[in-house]
Amino acid sequence: SNKPKIVVLGAGYAGLTTTKRLIKMLSPEEAEIVLINKHNYHYESTWLHEVAAGTINPNQARVMISDVVNPKRVRLVYDSVVEIKKDEQRVVLENSEITYDYLVVGLGFESNDFGIKGMAEHAFAIEDIDTSRLISEHIEYQFAKYSNDKNADEDSLNILVGGAGFTGIEFVGELADKVPELCKKYDIDRNKVRIINVEAAPSILPMFDKELVSYAKKSLEDRGVEIMIGAPISECTPEGFIVGDDKELIKAGTVVWTGGVKGSSVLGDSGFELVKGKVNVNGDLRMPEEENIFVIGDCSWVWNKEADRPYPPTAQLAMQEADVVAANLKALITNQPLKDFVFDDKGTVASLGNSDGIGNVFSSYKLQGKSAAAMKKVVDNRSLFMIGGPMLVLKKGKVRPF
Ligand code: FAD
Repeated sequence: SNKPKIVVLGAGYAGLTTTKRLIKMLSPEEAEIVLINKHNYHYESTWLHEVAAGTINPNQARVMISDVVNPKRVRLVYDSVVEIKKDEQRVVLENSEITYDYLVVGLGFESNDFGIKGMAEHAFAIEDIDTSRLISEHIEYQFAKYSNDKNADEDSLNILVGGAGFTGIEFVGELADKVPELCKKYDIDRNKVRIINVEAAPSILPMFDKELVSYAKKSLEDRGVEIMIGAPISECTPEGFIVGDDKELIKAGTVVWTGGVKGSSVLGDSGFELVKGKVNVNGDLRMPEEENIFVIGDCSWVWNKEADRPYPPTAQLAMQEADVVAANLKALITNQPLKDFVFDDKGTVASLGNSDGIGNVFSSYKLQGKSAAAMKKVVDNRSLFMIGGPMLVLKKGKVRPF
C-alpha cells in the first residue's frame, strides 16, 4: 500500500508514549505503525533501583506491551536492534530486518563507566530488569552463603556503590531499607554489613540544592549508609574499588556501578555523529540533516536555549518529547509545519527508601521526608496511569505503607 510506515525503536518511556500518541492521532488508513522492543514487556526504568535492592518484585516494574498497545493497530516486533542503516531506510534486527518511511529512535540508556579499569568486568550495573534482578539475587546469595559458613569473610556482606547521582542515592536508600530485613532473615548482626557509597565529586545529588542534599545525606547516614565524597575510583578489582590518592582498597561481596549513563550503543554502531554518547537533535527532535529520523529520550540531547545547555535526561523529558514527536510525525504526513520542543519542568523527586525522600516541585517548592516519599509514589503511579490507565495503577501501583 501507499500508507507511510512509521517504525518506533524501543518501548521505554519515549517509544511507548510516542506509539500511544500516534494511535490517537493517526487513523489506520493514514499510517502503519510498528513498535520494536527487545522484550515483550515495557519496564519502568525509574523503578529499577528498587528491583536491584529487592524492595519490589521485578514483575511489579514491568508490563506486557500487548496489554497496553492494541496489537491489531500496531505491529509489535520483539527483537533486538543491531544497526540502523539510514541511507537505505532499513533497520537490522538480530533475527530479521525492517524498512521504514519514518523512524523514531528511543532505545534508551546503557551504563557508562568512563573507561575506569575493571568496572565493566567486575561491577554490576542497573540497566534493565535482568541486570537489576541479578543484583538483588546476588546480594541475597551473599547473605545466605555467609550464614551457612562459620569461616566466611565479613567483607562478603558489604555492598559497594560507585556514584552518588540520582540512581546511586536512590539505590542506597532502598538498601538501607532492605539490609535490616535480610539481616533478620539470615540471623546476621546489622553491624556486620556495610553499605558504602563512593563519589568522586565534592557532593552527592548535584541536581538538588545544599539544604536538600544535607537532609538526604543525614537521612542515609542515620540509617547506616557510609558516604564517601571527593573519592575518585581508579580501579574496580574482583575484591572491590581502589579509591582516592592513597589507593585504598575497599572490599565488598557486591559491587555496583551507577556513576554514569550514555545512549544506546546502537547509535555509535550505526555511525551516527555523537556528542558524549548521544545524538544532538534539532529543536523539532529530528537528527540533523535527516528529514525522517527522530531521536528521543536518553538517546539524544535537546538544547535548552534558556539555560544554554542540554536538558538533563529524565523520564519526564522523554515522555514530553514523545508528544512532540507524534505531533511532528502527523505534521510530516499531512504536510504541515513541524513544531519545536519546549520542556515543561514539573520538578524532581528522589526517594531515600520507602518512606523518605527529597524533591523540588511546582518550580521551587521544596519537599523532604514523608511528603517527598508520598509525592514520589504519586509520580510513579501517574507514569503507570499514562501507560495503562486506572486498571494498571490498581494492579502495579505503589501502595506500600510507610
Ligand atoms: P528507556 O526507559 O531505557 O527505554 C528503552 C527501551 O528500549 C527499553 O524498553 C529497552 O528494552 C529497549 N531497548 C534497548 N536497547 C534495545 C535494542 N538494541 N533493541 C530493542 N530494544 C532495545 N527519570 C526521572 O524523570 N525521574 C526519576 O525519578 C528517575 N529515576 C531513575 C532511577 C533509576 C534507577 C534510573 C536508572 C533512571 C532514572 N531516571 C529518572 C531516568 C529515566 O529512567 C530515563 O531518563 C528514561 O528511562 C529514559 O527513557 P527512554 O525511553 O529513553 O529509555
